[in-house]
Amino acid sequence: MPIKPMVRNNICLNAHPAGCAASVRKQIEYTKAHLSKTDNAPKLVLVVGCSNGYGLASRIGAAFGYKAVTVGLSFENEPSEKRSGTAGYYNNEEFDKQAVKDGLVSITLNGDAFSNEMKAKTVEAVKQAAVKAGIPAKIDLFVYSLASPVRTDPKDGVMYKSVIKPIGTAQSGRSLNFMDGIFSDFNIEPATPEEISNTVKVMGGEDWELWMDALDKEGLLDTQTRAVAYTYIGPELSWAIYKNGTIGKAKEDLERACRAINKKFTETKKIFGAWVSVNKALVTRASAVIPIIPLYISSLFKVMKDMKLHEGCIEQIERLYRDRLYTADGKVPTDSENRIRIDDWEMRDDVQKAVVEKMNKVTTENVYVETDIAGVKHDFLEVHGFDVEGVDYDAD
Ligand code: NAD
Repeated sequence: MPIKPMVRNNICLNAHPAGCAASVRKQIEYTKAHLSKTDNAPKLVLVVGCSNGYGLASRIGAAFGYKAVTVGLSFENEPSEKRSGTAGYYNNEEFDKQAVKDGLVSITLNGDAFSNEMKAKTVEAVKQAAVKAGIPAKIDLFVYSLASPVRTDPKDGVMYKSVIKPIGTAQSGRSLNFMDGIFSDFNIEPATPEEISNTVKVMGGEDWELWMDALDKEGLLDTQTRAVAYTYIGPELSWAIYKNGTIGKAKEDLERACRAINKKFTETKKIFGAWVSVNKALVTRASAVIPIIPLYISSLFKVMKDMKLHEGCIEQIERLYRDRLYTADGKVPTDSENRIRIDDWEMRDDVQKAVVEKMNKVTTENVYVETDIAGVKHDFLEVHGFDVEGVDYDAD
């Protein structure tokens, strides 16, 4: 039967296979037109969290831009008789199909990246992919792009849950439902100390460090290896919920892990370097559920589109690769904290000033004119394979 989007509270419960496939092909076409192989381009790339958002764009950029061999790991649901699969399942399927078409080696794994078992399976897949492509089993680029609500620690088998909450004091504000343009008030109580440490456990840097150790143990790291994990900082108006909240604490820990990885592997000349890249706020499965974000992103998109500065995941990754990680002179531009900044356009003073002005005057009556809520709704649906141009949504 035809599949229609089932959306509750900015969460989409199903996905459309043909729409996901078309959306992946669109990103591949963009990459082919904008990114091409250079002398220092990565040849063997591992992406953990490869099926959606920034991880998917990172894998597409590496494979279809740089012609790299890619191994991808994500955690997605297959379709069943009663339910559609998750969007990432269909994205991976299309990625592999297009890779075969272009003669690219790709191996995709499905399972829990936090587990020892999947780390071992991934290591074997990297070796296999290298043999298949006839290249040394040395990872040139390792992208860590997980966004997960839970993590089972392989050491003790305990499952930790992350929360999106402020720290210290309760926070309230206006939330926007981008499906219907209706505002509601939110009030979130502060996180308990346990919730803070659990969120750090899930979304912090411990697992990234475990991955680096696992790859090192198997001799897959090399003096050319670049490792990157993604974070968000955003404007001050979101800090109470994001940067100074539980997720921000986890992201601080990601930066701690990055320093530890550089101390262990870069300073000893085992790898080229590790970075946390600060990316732009975009509509993905993970970001849509953060209270302040839909209103902020709707205003931001309007401003950035008007200024011709707007980017999606694939455009962000193109800039990350070409202008940061794989520059002509081999240098990686960073801020004073050694972070890569591809949120630089989002954070420009003129952009932020215009966004704040918009956010202060937007109401239910003018939300479709003052903001790009329509664009945000479209992007959200597209992430799940809906509202994609050229797809027949009445087909069975
Ligand atoms: P996403 O939800 O689109 O993708 C998350 C990926 O993680 C998927 O491939 C999913 O399958 C995978 N995953 C989740 N749990 C897993 C598990 N246990 N094992 C294996 N794979 C698992 O997320 P996203 O928005 O692209 O976020 C990726 C990273 O980018 C995050 O660290 C996020 O904080 C960061 N980031 C996001 C934004 C944004 O606006 N979306 C902005 C800046 C930085």
